Amino acid sequence: MLPNSTEARDIRYQMPAAADMRKHEETGSVVIERGEGIYVYDNTGKRYIEGLAGLWSVAVGFGEPRLAKAAFDQMSKLPYYHQFNYKTHGPSVDLAEKLLSLIPFPMSKVHFTSSGSEANDLVAKMVWYRSNAMGRPEKKKIIGRIKGYHGVTIAAGSITGIERNHTSFDLPLDRMIHTSCPSYELFGKEGESEADFTARMLADLEALIEREGADTIAAMWGEPVMGAGGVLPPPAGYWAGVQAILRKHDILLVADEVICGFGRTGKMFACETYDIVPDVLVLSKQLSSSYLPLSAIVINDAFYQPIADESHRIGSFGHGFTASGHPVATAVGLENVKIIEERDLVGNAARLAQMFQAGIKDLATHPLADHARGVGLIGAVELKGWDKPGQAGTAVADRMQAEGLIIRGIGDAICFCPPLIITEAQVTEMFAIARAAMDAVAAERG
Ligand code: PLP
Repeated sequence: MLPNSTEARDIRYQMPAAADMRKHEETGSVVIERGEGIYVYDNTGKRYIEGLAGLWSVAVGFGEPRLAKAAFDQMSKLPYYHQFNYKTHGPSVDLAEKLLSLIPFPMSKVHFTSSGSEANDLVAKMVWYRSNAMGRPEKKKIIGRIKGYHGVTIAAGSITGIERNHTSFDLPLDRMIHTSCPSYELFGKEGESEADFTARMLADLEALIEREGADTIAAMWGEPVMGAGGVLPPPAGYWAGVQAILRKHDILLVADEVICGFGRTGKMFACETYDIVPDVLVLSKQLSSSYLPLSAIVINDAFYQPIADESHRIGSFGHGFTASGHPVATAVGLENVKIIEERDLVGNAARLAQMFQAGIKDLATHPLADHARGVGLIGAVELKGWDKPGQAGTAVADRMQAEGLIIRGIGDAICFCPPLIITEAQVTEMFAIARAAMDAVAAERG
């Protein structure tokens, strides 16, 4: 490593995200220099398939000129404006209108933020604000799920149910409580049917609500398919059961579609795939293909009205970011959603889903693998046989990266979530590299 190389200066000057800092100081990072379609290239010219679409997010692939143009055009016209003091601008209004037209259940308003974490954090504040507005200050607890992921800010990180996001950060906050992780593949008991597993998960939720008191619980958060927990699709009947329980106890449902939204499951929204009708929908990532930071909070009228009343009583809803509804980010988001529609990327995900899931299942026949799971164009293979639990995913993902495929190792799983523009031939290429890497790891392990 040359002393003034990007790699060396990265170690010298940057504190990396989600990393072991000492490992980073020792080994540094790969410098990704450019991207095109489903591929990215590092600064040695090595090509990789981006099998995780960046961080589950680049729906339209890398290097899409229409998004660059949308950004340039908006930058040239109005590069920035805020939404304080009763100001707005066209791009955010256009995107809000577009989102409301696409969502297949009645929603009333959209509020833009810049990241999934920010959006979930703000929804938590809105939930509390609304409970106060409704004269129910005791109804504030929030239910998350073990292995659920909703971000890393204080409230979102607390709703998250992943230990490494809590440890040494003094999280979760007291108001955030967690119910069990509904992964039949990981947590089903020997001889337990999927229906029995679902019933057990629902009984856990009921018991938690009873223990804590329904009058103290305001909302439950859930990803329709858990992503960062290791790609965990729900067991059959789970979401219907959860919604019935929440309705019975007057508890709001927040669907976090930060990963699942915009076609990932083969429908525009995963709420459609699983018949979920939430009170609040959180969107990000594929909303702008992450070309610019953007997230959206979409709320129904029953959620909105008490908040509007309270803001009127106080004189203001005392929350807003400098970048709320950023004009360039929302212009890029709108163009991105138009591309998803015009190129029928949701249809592409639906058409390729069978082949993609068959590819995942085929990898699960490998001696290193235990089982596969997934839906649409997202899936994971659980590995087995490692001495220490939780290390197989990264070990195998590292090997795949060496072979030219970037995916994500989470615990003992390897997770796949390619750009929605992927073709049949590229799916075949991706799984061929994956299998060759698994063969290489198996041969090394003897
Ligand atoms: N919610 C879900 C479901 C996510 O997967 C993520 C990020 O992976 C987030 C929220 C947080 O989003 P961000 O990283 O933009 O803060």
